[in-house]
Amino acid sequence: MINVTFSDSLSGCLKMADYYAKESNNEIQDLKENLYSLYLNLDLGDVSEQPFGKKRENDFVKMFGNEDIPFMRKWFNSELKKIDKIEKLVKKGHDIRIWYTERTNEFCGFCWLLSMLDLWGVENNKILYVKLPQSILFDNGRYEIFGGSGMFEPKIISQLVNTQHYLTESYKNYHIRQWQRVREENAEMRVSINSQLLSVSADFYDSIIISEIGKLGDTFKQAEAIGNCLAKLWVYDSFVAWRIDEMIEKGLFEIVEEAKTGSQYYCRTLRKNIKGENLMENTKDDKRIIEVYDAYIEQCTNEPEAFLDATNGITYYAKKNYWLILETIDHFIRIGYDGINFFKKDNVFLNSLDYMKPCVYTYEGEEHDEYIRTLFCGERLKNTYEKKGHYYAEFDSFSIEIIPYEDNEELPQIDRKDFSSYKNLYGCERFITKKCKCGGVGKLLLKFDYIYVVRCDKCKSATNIAFTANEAIESWESGNIPEDLSDIVIE
Ligand SMILES: [Zn+2]
Repeated sequence: MINVTFSDSLSGCLKMADYYAKESNNEIQDLKENLYSLYLNLDLGDVSEQPFGKKRENDFVKMFGNEDIPFMRKWFNSELKKIDKIEKLVKKGHDIRIWYTERTNEFCGFCWLLSMLDLWGVENNKILYVKLPQSILFDNGRYEIFGGSGMFEPKIISQLVNTQHYLTESYKNYHIRQWQRVREENAEMRVSINSQLLSVSADFYDSIIISEIGKLGDTFKQAEAIGNCLAKLWVYDSFVAWRIDEMIEKGLFEIVEEAKTGSQYYCRTLRKNIKGENLMENTKDDKRIIEVYDAYIEQCTNEPEAFLDATNGITYYAKKNYWLILETIDHFIRIGYDGINFFKKDNVFLNSLDYMKPCVYTYEGEEHDEYIRTLFCGERLKNTYEKKGHYYAEFDSFSIEIIPYEDNEELPQIDRKDFSSYKNLYGCERFITKKCKCGGVGKLLLKFDYIYVVRCDKCKSATNIAFTANEAIESWESGNIPEDLSDIVIE
């Protein structure tokens, strides 16, 4: 008998199980005869070659990119040698028993091995298989789920061998067809769902991995994220590590601290809030800002906390835990104390953005987000940079300076109750395209935080008061300027 598994742990278990089988005088006692565990990882990488060649070898090595490459090549070749030995033994007439579960890499291995046995001309009556169950309800009422064949105890395995079957034509054909199909499709990855192999892209599990990372803090250990994912996904730690590496590559995370020497490379510390220089390119194209939120995580107060001041240039006074969120088609751009960060929308960390609820501090029950929206509407972010602890974001027609709230000694005194005069408001000039009959140019003025007018800079004719900047600008553009605001004070 030849015993083949796709798991080192199961092979170890079979050696013990063999002992129990003999001790209990089980009918089947050849559990460790010609025992081979094949470590093929066929759920990932190129599977087009039969037998395996260079493409498979390169992908096998690449899957463990952070490991020793010559060692991985050696490993791959030792797997090929095992396959050779199995081929020789079956061709000599030995029976073969294949142990597997429907965990993807084992299921791929099983379907692949049946294809090879067929190719080698091995008859069905020489092939046995033990399909290990995903769960067992024991006689004493205990219920257990098995994430893969490595999770069984030897005593249980010594019993489960009795569930073995000889291969039938129909069973063989079904599984060989599965393998043929995924070989032709030759996708980046395969998953086993409902006893079927499906070809998928390598980012298939990314949303689950990202949602697990979302539950961790802004700074987190890659190893912890991997551990949490393994509890949900029946994949290898090296796979999840690789997916997170790809996300680091894409700019979703930054490495804060490397792993200590001697430990796995992924025992390192990562941070979510990345500087998005490599994502800038995307926002430069036609990805115009379509929405803006002021965001906070603490309770709103009537006092201005972080706030945008557009009365004298455009400055964002940043406080910890308050952000201005700009939304483009593909990204959220977060402006705040920690600079300018990007979040790609399809990779949004739900838990981080949960607290970025659209909100602006309220003043006497009124919300004042409209003038912020007006500034950003239709703008593109062109550039970001940092200078002496201040961040700068350049848009199509204006730029914002981001100043830490407490660093600025000359904070404008905003006493809202005495805010009786109008202020010039910069940033909306491009929306004011018409000139006054007298030839003057329209200027957007703001009283308190919510009364807008557009006034001619020459004859001082003005629109009616409006509660949104857009409304005032629309009036101006339609030539509706009945007010005379020649006597008002401009601060
Ligand atoms: Zn005029």
